[in-house]
Amino acid sequence: MNKTNGVSLGMRMSTAGGLEEAKSCKNLDLNNGYNNLDSNTNCDSLDSRNGDKSVDANKKLRDQNSNCDSVLPEYGSRLADFLEKKTKVALLLDFDGTLSPLVSRPEDAILPDHTKKLLQRLASKPKVFLAIISGRQVDNVRDKVRLDEITYAGSHGLDIIFSDSSKYEHPISEDTLAKSRSLLTQVKEQCERDGAMVEDKGAVFTFHYRNVPLEKQAELISQVESLIQAVGFRAGRAHAAIESKPPLHWDKGKACNLIMDKMFGKDWRDSVGPIFVGDDVTDEDAMLALQGYGLSFKVTGSTESLADHVTHADVKLATVQDVTQLLAWIDRLL
Ligand SMILES: [Mg+2]
Repeated sequence: MNKTNGVSLGMRMSTAGGLEEAKSCKNLDLNNGYNNLDSNTNCDSLDSRNGDKSVDANKKLRDQNSNCDSVLPEYGSRLADFLEKKTKVALLLDFDGTLSPLVSRPEDAILPDHTKKLLQRLASKPKVFLAIISGRQVDNVRDKVRLDEITYAGSHGLDIIFSDSSKYEHPISEDTLAKSRSLLTQVKEQCERDGAMVEDKGAVFTFHYRNVPLEKQAELISQVESLIQAVGFRAGRAHAAIESKPPLHWDKGKACNLIMDKMFGKDWRDSVGPIFVGDDVTDEDAMLALQGYGLSFKVTGSTESLADHVTHADVKLATVQDVTQLLAWIDRLL
């Protein structure tokens, strides 16, 4: 979708006062138009483009952004309505590919400084609860983010360290753990070749093939999946990676609900609004689990795939930069 379309869609959102569902796929080219619009666009010109219906819906946005230094993103009115209706907002954010740009080697991933400052500011707001929910091991993701007094979930929610320092460890039998260790060794010995690498996450591991030459990937993928499935584990597809998970019936969605139950009580759905943001297949579990209660955003990774991307999320974003922009809007609104 070109820049002109992005701009016109941004304006259309304001007129309609809301978004179509993400699955309709035609609506959410978020990152082109508004990023490239004249940064000096003023409130008067926004009003005239939006039409009368938009005035109430976007008043709060404009009040808190009196400089009007950027045009409202397409999801702006929906986000503003959601935040206003909730007494508390839980930001549940994936790390890699969501807050941190994807890199060839997971150990090289960093949280950009401006994103960290934004998270810090958000976490300090009385209305905000912040949790990072990652496929990384919990200590690893905590080291990457390095913010105190927020909640971290690692290994897709198998291990959680809450903001009050209490911990949750999903029960895993000795037998399952032993099977996982043995499988990890097997995959390392047989499949760590041609640039592929295994990331050990405890009971879970990830086989990364991003650096494997394209013509060799299919054979490796098939070999790894066969090894994982042979021991009764789940082989999940991720970005240039295969995730090995024991059959625990636990995922990011269940972890999100556990975090919400613990932090806000079982009746949190009446007053607390979870906002989930993620980029990968494993994040879909959380998007599905929060449907009807929260607002979820899927990072598709590129503007090209945006329209065709199928997701349980309410809104599709193209890039990590769009996530930063979303967080900045939340910061302005709260
Ligand atoms: Mg991710």
